[in-house]
Amino acid sequence: MSKKKFAIAVHGGAGTILKKMMTAEKEKLYKKALTIALEVGYDILEEGGTAVDAVEAAVYELENFPLFNAGKGAVFTHNGKHEMDAAIMDGSTLKAGAVTCLNQVRNPVVLAREVMEHSEHVFLSGKGAEQFARMRKIKLEKDNYFFTDERYKQLQEVINEEGAHLDHNINVKEKKFGTVGAVALDVNGNLAAATSTGGMTNKRFGRIGDSPIIGSGTYANNNTCAISCTGHGEFFIRAVVAYDISCLIEYKGMTLKQACKEVVNNKLVKLGGEGGLIAIDKNGNVELPFNSDGMYRGYKSSNGKELIAIYK
Ligand code: ASP
Repeated sequence: MSKKKFAIAVHGGAGTILKKMMTAEKEKLYKKALTIALEVGYDILEEGGTAVDAVEAAVYELENFPLFNAGKGAVFTHNGKHEMDAAIMDGSTLKAGAVTCLNQVRNPVVLAREVMEHSEHVFLSGKGAEQFARMRKIKLEKDNYFFTDERYKQLQEVINEEGAHLDHNINVKEKKFGTVGAVALDVNGNLAAATSTGGMTNKRFGRIGDSPIIGSGTYANNNTCAISCTGHGEFFIRAVVAYDISCLIEYKGMTLKQACKEVVNNKLVKLGGEGGLIAIDKNGNVELPFNSDGMYRGYKSSNGKELIAIYK
């Protein structure tokens, strides 16, 4: 009997990521972080672990790198705070857990999984979510843990402006989306997806993006695919991006490649929505489409194929 196929993909955000704006040193750091997250997830799958375990572990790693806009490294809100969002979905049961507006949870993806597995709910927010985190003995941190100089500088650049900025690098006005995510297929044919983000710099009014919204930024279904998105959340919510790709496969018989192209390079572009996503289907096909200049991305498959890339 041939060995069952398994694979994992990760992203660290999409946007105006141009080689000319990157230093060799920084590029190395990004690639290293993506590689570590991929390897951690891949090892779990190789040992026969579940897709849910693999995506949680990969996102957990990325949340701990201040390079990315999630966990440590999350961007600042207008009020100089952090409001983090995350979601996870198990394609084998269609169970999901999501959390939003977290100020204190060290690894939002861990809490999302707790919601999925240890509550009767799917989506918890703010104070209530953190009360649940305390009950489940999830690791909390004070504000200073989430403080990074770079993000603070970014907030100061735009704090007097009206809008929120979807960026995570030195020049906030050049759009970059530093959300992180992972999708995986395990040896038992189960799919899972997870996404985690700090949202937008200078955001106000309790703004929530697509990342924690099941069907928009995160979705997994064993019959079709697993998806984790990054980009301008408002557009991804309106286009119901992740579920739309699943639907095009389920109801229209499209391949993963065709469905991704239709949504990312046609529908989203027409709406004006910038960003990308990582996707894996039940046969282990991987797609990493984006309509921006770049996306921090990578995948590794049991068929020997692997990739780490940043630019177009
Ligand atoms: N999609 C995220 C949001 O709108 C941002 C990102 O991808 O970086 O909150």
